[in-house]
Amino acid sequence: MNIYYDRDADLSLLKDKKIAIVGYGSQGHSHALNLRDSGMDVRIALKSGSGSWPKAENAGFLVQEVAQAAKEADIIMILTPDEVASEMYAADIKAGLRPGTCLACAHGFNIHFKKIVPPDDVNVFMVAPKGPGHLLRSEFEKGQGVPCLIAIAQDPSGSTKDIALAYASAIGGGRAAILETSFKEETETDLFGEQTVLCGGVTELMRAGFETLVEAGYAPEMAFFECIHEMKLIVDLVYEGGITNMRYSVSNTAEYGDMTRGKRVIGEETRTAMKGILADIQSGKFADEWIAEHRSGSPNFNALREAAKGHQSEVVGAHLRGMMPWMQQNRLVDKAKN
Ligand code: NDP
Ligand code: MG
Repeated sequence: MNIYYDRDADLSLLKDKKIAIVGYGSQGHSHALNLRDSGMDVRIALKSGSGSWPKAENAGFLVQEVAQAAKEADIIMILTPDEVASEMYAADIKAGLRPGTCLACAHGFNIHFKKIVPPDDVNVFMVAPKGPGHLLRSEFEKGQGVPCLIAIAQDPSGSTKDIALAYASAIGGGRAAILETSFKEETETDLFGEQTVLCGGVTELMRAGFETLVEAGYAPEMAFFECIHEMKLIVDLVYEGGITNMRYSVSNTAEYGDMTRGKRVIGEETRTAMKGILADIQSGKFADEWIAEHRSGSPNFNALREAAKGHQSEVVGAHLRGMMPWMQQNRLVDKAKN
């Protein structure tokens, strides 16, 4: 695997380029601010009436309608939600593309599953930060960086990889690592990771633990701290030095329980489910389901989202966090700004 750092990137390749960031959400605001701090010419593209419009203007950016930005820009980075990108591309971007324009994304979903099919004379690359947008910004401000993946789908100009490398470096990726991958690998592993481990797996694991304790008669506050709140402290130790580092820090009792009981929780049934989920990702079944859900007005998505907010662990957790005022300071997410 090719791994690059700042020393491998030539930022001067971006200096004469107009970069349009489409969307000013989690990724959009952090790409835009980091690129600007690296000396680049950045403008934000949104639809009129967008709630993000004043946030981008208040941060000092030129904000344009998507169709206008697409006509003017040399690099168009699409950072809208994946499920809206193909409709927006058809309506507002496609007509503005010129031969040699760079079309970019932070997740390969639409290009890999052919929901967006750019013309052959357009360069197509991906720069995918391996972390949430707010962290991409906060790490950059600390002089650090979030690792980024780059991939090239179309390269009529012959310089797309150098542009992608420069872009990844300008948002801080080259301080950590820039890994070269393919659209297929990034898209399929990213979806798999978030569905089975990072989001789907972890949330269901925490909730199952919480519910088991509450159903057995223990206090919900105890269950919250034990099965949800403490997750971060454990994961921080894994992040810092791997599972061995975490096991060094916890008690021998915890370590013995971990190694002898963990496989009873995550066993063959879970691995079989993981394989099935991966197959649905690879075949495009998940992608089709998600786009169809969006196009029918997201009824299932919205219902699941609402139901999850009311879960007892969320209510108890909000109350207990409220008693720890320091947790509200220096928050990464400030909905008025980003
Ligand atoms: P968000 O939901 O945070 O942001 C969406 C932004 O797009 C908002 O500013 C929204 O404006 C705008 N938008 C929505 N529809 C349109 C439209 N039709 N035209 C113009 N702008 C529009 O998205 P994310 O940052 O989470 O995701 C962006 C991309 O980055 C996705 O491809 C995702 O997979 C990828 N990614 C995301 C990560 C993350 O940390 N979240 C991590 C790595 C990759 P409005 O205020 O009007 O809704
Ligand atoms: Mg992901």
